[in-house]
Amino acid sequence: MSKTEGGRCTLVAATANPHKLAEIAAVLGSDSGTADVELLPRPEDLGEIVEDGDTLEANARLKATAVCRHTGAAAVSDDTGLEVAALGGAPGVRSARFAGDRADDADNRRRLLADLQGAADRSACFRTVAVAAFPDGAEVVAEGMTAGFISEAPRGDRGFGYDSVFVPDEGDGRTFAEMTADEKNGISHRGRAFRALAAELGL
Ligand code: IMP
Repeated sequence: MSKTEGGRCTLVAATANPHKLAEIAAVLGSDSGTADVELLPRPEDLGEIVEDGDTLEANARLKATAVCRHTGAAAVSDDTGLEVAALGGAPGVRSARFAGDRADDADNRRRLLADLQGAADRSACFRTVAVAAFPDGAEVVAEGMTAGFISEAPRGDRGFGYDSVFVPDEGDGRTFAEMTADEKNGISHRGRAFRALAAELGL
């Protein structure tokens, strides 16, 4: 993390997902203490980072260290998984490729709803591991979790990924995709992980 005299910190984000970037920027911006955090987008000239780790933490570390090495600056990344009780914790670390290697968000949601057809237990949770990697090799890891259940059908058009089929227990019955960005960030796995990361970093 580079800090200027005014207390400004610059972190480079490892994500190419604009939804994630906006969520992380909102959390680090609004919940930072005295420091002014500048979150830079993932460098466009950085090639694809193969996420072949067995855990969320391993994948988050792969991304953060790749961006840190490429830029020579402190980098932050997150990896997120949806864990569904009736599926034995799947898709978990394979959430992005649940419906196949070329699957998009809609394919993954369709597969999830199909797999849960008739299931009595629709409980699930989102888990995010956030990693900050520094040029001197230091790293900070933090985790966030949100419990909820999978709806019978998609609802809402905000957010991304599985948002339209996930109903957080702490909400009022709406899916994440029916909430405002602030409402989601307040109770989401990613919001919690990055608030914990910011606290660890003293931001
Ligand atoms: P990754 O962290 O980008 O690898 O995301 C894994 C999978 O979870 C992808 O299919 C994402 O679309 C999905 N995902 C990640 N974060 C969220 C979220 O906050 N809400 C809904 N889906 C998400």
